[in-house]
Amino acid sequence: MASLSVNCCRAMQAGKRLLPAHKLVPAVSGAVPVRRLNLHEYQSKTLMEQYGCNTQRFKIATSTQQAQTATSELGVEEVVVKAQILAGGRGKGVFSSGLQGGVKVTKDLASVPELVSQMIGYNLKTKQTTGDGVTVRKVMVAESLDISRETYFAIVLDRSMQGPVLVGSPEGGVDIEEVAASRPERIFKTPVDITVGVTDKQASEMAKNLEFTGPALEEAARQIKSLYRLFCGVDATQVEINPLGETSEGEVVCFDAKINFDDSAKFRQREIFAMEDTAESDPREVEAARYDLNYIGMTGDIGCLVNGAGLAMATMDIIKLHNGQPANFLDVGGGVNEKQVLNAFRIITNDPQVKAILVNIFGGIVDCTTIANGIVGACREIQLRMPLVVRLEGTNSVKARQILDESGLPIQAASDLADAANKVVASLHS
Ligand code: GDP
Ligand code: MG
Repeated sequence: MASLSVNCCRAMQAGKRLLPAHKLVPAVSGAVPVRRLNLHEYQSKTLMEQYGCNTQRFKIATSTQQAQTATSELGVEEVVVKAQILAGGRGKGVFSSGLQGGVKVTKDLASVPELVSQMIGYNLKTKQTTGDGVTVRKVMVAESLDISRETYFAIVLDRSMQGPVLVGSPEGGVDIEEVAASRPERIFKTPVDITVGVTDKQASEMAKNLEFTGPALEEAARQIKSLYRLFCGVDATQVEINPLGETSEGEVVCFDAKINFDDSAKFRQREIFAMEDTAESDPREVEAARYDLNYIGMTGDIGCLVNGAGLAMATMDIIKLHNGQPANFLDVGGGVNEKQVLNAFRIITNDPQVKAILVNIFGGIVDCTTIANGIVGACREIQLRMPLVVRLEGTNSVKARQILDESGLPIQAASDLADAANKVVASLHS
């Protein structure tokens, strides 16, 4: 429940898109799995190598000098230089330096440092980024292979099919969304029985649908099975290879990689989750995650502190209904303690956008006195100077209200959700 709402909330954030593969499976569009952990291509490829998936040899560079060294160490005639950001569509992207294309294939090895100097430190804007794009901090320098054909292959978790689904198209490359929209018959889907796994027959049929022939057909089927082993082994919600390409020598290679992971599996995928690069994330969200708070920054001016994802969504809705704008979605969860309340307040008030705060708690598992004590402590420690409206209902709410009253702090109590929204919106104009 919490994660679905967090995801809906993310979709509400301006310009944030769901991944192309999700679009390919419309049946899941209302219940898309959360994709909080997103790895860079180079990190995904490191995992893929461990599962026998074919990838190119590569090195990572954070400077022009490192890129030069990487190029000579690879010892190949042609390299591909790829900007590493957590978004796709890099090939057709544009850098703020003016450079066109975040994926560059070149035989002129001496030009690599110059190329990289126009990538690192500049923003790359692609179809999947928002605003001014994303600052590039790392590039991959890989041996380039001669691609004769590009196909699309993904494995996604599809709720409507109650398991993983293999999704493939012989028309891979950059614009799979366009294929899905205009030629849906060129997209092939095969549901997988999770208790059996991908059978030889399924793998070989998918490889045929991807139009591999001869020895490449067998290799493609092997790659499909390896990718499925990876999907299960790393607790992925999606593994997307676009392109899964065929080289002029008949090899089948995963040229690109995008893996999303199931947040619920964090406890058994610690090494993978430790690879997370938060440089592109909203710093408020990173800070909140440190305290196990479900936080998503938004663009309004009313900071919200709520328990339960459903109530958090309802709170945001009712603020909007009263012509207010939420500054965030924050679900402190059921087992919240005073320290988390303090940290939640700190994160909310550190946001310069926030001009008023609304606390909306339903004390089911949580004791309202815990929240009240947390609020009082936070107000004192932070020296809160903005309007604060609090609605506490449920377990020990009477005692909790008494704690707030006796604190002498200028807290406005609200009797219900509408009253709370009314008061917090009014406080902005008083
Ligand atoms: P994306 O644009 O972010 O999806 O990045 P990709 O890794 O998919 O690269 C974009 C395109 O660059 C691919 O579809 C290929 O056409 C091309 N490309 C990537 N790697 C190579 C390579 O090693 N050799 C050649 N010739 N082309 C490549
Ligand atoms: Mg790609």
